[in-house]
Amino acid sequence: MQVQLASKFVNELPADPEKENGIRQVYHSCYSIVFPKKPSNPKLIHANTIVANLLGIATSNLDTEEFVSLFSGEKTYPNAQPFAMCYAGHQFGNWAGQLGDGRAINLMEVTHDGKDFTLQLKGAGPTPYSRNADGLAVLRSSIREYLCAEAMHHLGIPTTRSLSLLLTGDEVLRDVMYDGNPAYEKGAIVCRVAPSFIRFGNFELFAARQDHENLKRLADFTIRHYFQSIKKTGKEKYIQFFEAVSKSTLEMILHWQRVGFVHGVMNTDNMSIHGLTIDYGPYGWMDDYNPAWTPNTTDKQHRRYRFENQPQIGLWNLYQLANALYPLIEETQPLEAILDTYTKAYDSNYLQMMQSKLGFQTNNEDDRNIIQELIVLLQEIATDMTIFFRNLSVVLKNDTPETAFKKIEFAFYNANDCNENIALKWHNWFTKYSDRLQLENVSDAERSNAMNQVNPKYVLRNYMAQLCIDAAEKGDYTLLNELYELLQNPYQEQPEYEKWYAKRPDWAKDKIGCSMLSCSS
Ligand code: AMP
Ligand code: MG
Repeated sequence: MQVQLASKFVNELPADPEKENGIRQVYHSCYSIVFPKKPSNPKLIHANTIVANLLGIATSNLDTEEFVSLFSGEKTYPNAQPFAMCYAGHQFGNWAGQLGDGRAINLMEVTHDGKDFTLQLKGAGPTPYSRNADGLAVLRSSIREYLCAEAMHHLGIPTTRSLSLLLTGDEVLRDVMYDGNPAYEKGAIVCRVAPSFIRFGNFELFAARQDHENLKRLADFTIRHYFQSIKKTGKEKYIQFFEAVSKSTLEMILHWQRVGFVHGVMNTDNMSIHGLTIDYGPYGWMDDYNPAWTPNTTDKQHRRYRFENQPQIGLWNLYQLANALYPLIEETQPLEAILDTYTKAYDSNYLQMMQSKLGFQTNNEDDRNIIQELIVLLQEIATDMTIFFRNLSVVLKNDTPETAFKKIEFAFYNANDCNENIALKWHNWFTKYSDRLQLENVSDAERSNAMNQVNPKYVLRNYMAQLCIDAAEKGDYTLLNELYELLQNPYQEQPEYEKWYAKRPDWAKDKIGCSMLSCSS
């Protein structure tokens, strides 16, 4: 297997001079050289041909021993310098100090077709940043990351990609619900891919330590390689950089809100500088529409990272990045102006996004009301978000409210909950909706088609991932392969997979791994 090494991060940024792999505070450095732990019996579960080809890796390389050896961390690629990054972050609203790649090891940076990629193993053993943990990852969380990143990509949502999923052959001890019941699980490693894995927290680290020299180095490096459209110099360069990050962060979160994705741990160390969805932990997809929902049991008390809070948290995180970049700018006004723009832009983009979900291609002053009323109505009784919006596309301009209602009823978790009062509210809403559709110039078919491009038919529901995990724990990867295929075309009808166009089954409602996930991974 041959790739073209780029090695920009390792060659151009300062390295930790200490070579021993022991836990420590690392100063004045962007990373530490560290080699993956040797797995005892690595086995490939899945390799992603599309991503491999993006990197210049031929399909014929994927079923080779060499591939398993490289992406399980057994061997390193000739002349590549594996490294763990040093970063800090705010976790759940509090300053957490130095964090760093505690179980992620960047294997190599490659370039292909004029694009840069970093290949990173997650779960490849301890690093200087592992703090009190083992640097490993278990099969269940690796499957969740592997599948979800690809599902997000095919939904058109900026994300890290998945190259490979392997078993290490080692056992890993985890206390899933942090309740004093640790058990051994299968260890696994995902190789994930992004232009870089630089996070907000990489900048926060240097700013907090008042290491302005390295803060500037890192910012200059990031802009030079990944924000090439920025041509300004001096302060203006960093202002434009912040503006670009602010925009891509907003876009990413808007997509999350469109499809009902809840990240679960939006700490600043989990915010990519590229506006990519990164670090798939206790994430989840909303089944019944509930803005207060978070899948993360570790966040149960305050629900800081609940669905409806995500846009606001994005802004909070950008404030932290603004603070970190401030020493390079030394003026608050331009940073505040960008943060103000975020709020205004979110408001108008959210409206447009919801209009597109409802099939409105024109603008009407009453649209905000129709949307707001719908959001309230969706919560009256448990109503599946994905199914509701997908089924809405088959409502015709001239349908009566009763006919329209019949078409979305399948989205109710329990149709018996829909009493007369609620049915009347739906009747009123569909009357308004039908009037509103009369203002649209496109045909029913065209509108339906456009709606089906923004309202996915298939998402990786939590219970689907869990079924896949349960089978994989027993060595059966049929479902993993099936979900991987299904999720490549989330907006297509795919009648052969119709069984996945289904509400969350009852058994999954309160099951660990389905509605409840902890940070244990
Ligand atoms: P996360 O909540 O997964 O984003 O992780 C927060 C921090 O904890 C990061 O610095 C991770 O690298 C580190 N971390 C999480 N799990 C482990 C683990 N099993 N071993 C070592 N470090 C970990
Ligand atoms: Mg993280």
